Amino acid sequence: MGVDLKPSSRAQERLDVQPGEAEITSPRRPRLSIVVPVYEEKESLEALYNQLARAIEGEEGELIFVDDGSRDGSFQVLRQLHAMDPRVKVIRFRRNFGKTAALSAGFQLARGEKVVTIDADLQDDPAEILRLCAKLDEGYDLVSGWRSKRIDPLSKRLPSSFFNWTVRSLTGVPLHDFNCGLKAYRSDVVSALALYGELHRFIPVLANWKGFDVTEMPVNHRSRKYGRSKYGVRRLSAGFLDFVQVLFLTTYMRNPLRLFGSLGMVVFAIGLIVFAYLAAIWFGGASIGRRPLLILAVLLMVAGLQLVSTGLLGEMLRNVTYNPREEFAIEQTLE
Ligand code: UDP
Ligand code: MG
Repeated sequence: MGVDLKPSSRAQERLDVQPGEAEITSPRRPRLSIVVPVYEEKESLEALYNQLARAIEGEEGELIFVDDGSRDGSFQVLRQLHAMDPRVKVIRFRRNFGKTAALSAGFQLARGEKVVTIDADLQDDPAEILRLCAKLDEGYDLVSGWRSKRIDPLSKRLPSSFFNWTVRSLTGVPLHDFNCGLKAYRSDVVSALALYGELHRFIPVLANWKGFDVTEMPVNHRSRKYGRSKYGVRRLSAGFLDFVQVLFLTTYMRNPLRLFGSLGMVVFAIGLIVFAYLAAIWFGGASIGRRPLLILAVLLMVAGLQLVSTGLLGEMLRNVTYNPREEFAIEQTLE
C-alpha cells in the first residue's frame, strides 16, 4: 500500500521515553484509584472514608486524599486514616492551590487502571463509583457524573445550567453537567490531561478533544451537611474567561496565525477601503484632514497589522515550545 508510515513510527520512537509509560510495567498495580480533593472538610472525612471503604469493598483499590492547604485540621484526620488503612495515601499541599491542582497531584500519584474522582463534602455518593466503572467497561474512556437532581441552592443551579448550556453548545460535547466532582477515567485519560489554572471544569472537553470517548451517567447528589461551599457565584465570571481559554486551547492554539491573521486582515481591509474612499475624495479636491473617518481608517489599519503580528508571534511561540507529545494522542500502535 502506498501509505507512508514514517511520521507515526518516528513519533512513537519519541513517545517511548515518556514517563507515563513506565507505570504500566509496575508490578502491583491496583485496579482502582480514588482521588479526593480536600479543602477544609474535616467533619466529612470520617464518614466519607467509611462510605468509600464500603463502596469499594472487595476491589483492589487505593484512596488518595489531596489536602489542598486546609487549616481546619483536615490533615490530622487524614493522617489517622492513613495510619489505620494502608490503602489510604495522603498528599498535603503547602497552601491552598485550588481544586485543579489537587486533582492533578492526585492523578500523578494514582496507579490504578481506573481512576475515580469524588468530592470530599459527601455531596457525591460513593455508592455510584462502581456503577461509573461498569460504564467504563462498556468501552468509554471517561464517564462524567450528571447530578440530574442536584441538591444545591437555585443561586448555584441557575448559573451552572447556563454554564453547562454554553459549554455544550460551543464545544459540541453533549454533557449536561461538566462540573460534577464524580467522574471515572481510564488511566490513559488521566495521564494525557495537562491540568492547570481552573481547567478541571473542562476536563470532559479536553479529553474529548484528545479523541477519548466521553459519556455521562445520572448520579445521586446530596446536600452539603458540613462546612461550606468553596465556590460561589463570584467564580462564574472567572469561569467565563476560563472557557475562552479552553476554546482557544482546543481550537486555535495550534494555528494562532489563522485566528489573528484572518481577523487582522479583515480589520486591515476595512481600514484600507475607508482610506481609499478618503483618498478618492481628496483627489476630488475635498479636504479630509479633519475628518474623524481618517482617524478610523488609520486605527483600523494599524490594529489589523498588530493582529497579524500577534498571530506571527503566536506561531513563533508555538514553534519554540513545540512538544511532540502534545501534537496528537495515539490510541495504539501495531508493530
Ligand atoms: N476543593 C479543593 N480546593 C479548593 C476548593 C475546593 O480541593 O480550593 C474541594 C472541596 O474540598 C470539595 C470539592 O473540591 O471536595 C468541591 O468543592 P465544593 O463542594 O466547595 O464545591 P461545590 O460542590 O459547592 O461546587
Ligand atoms: Mg460540594
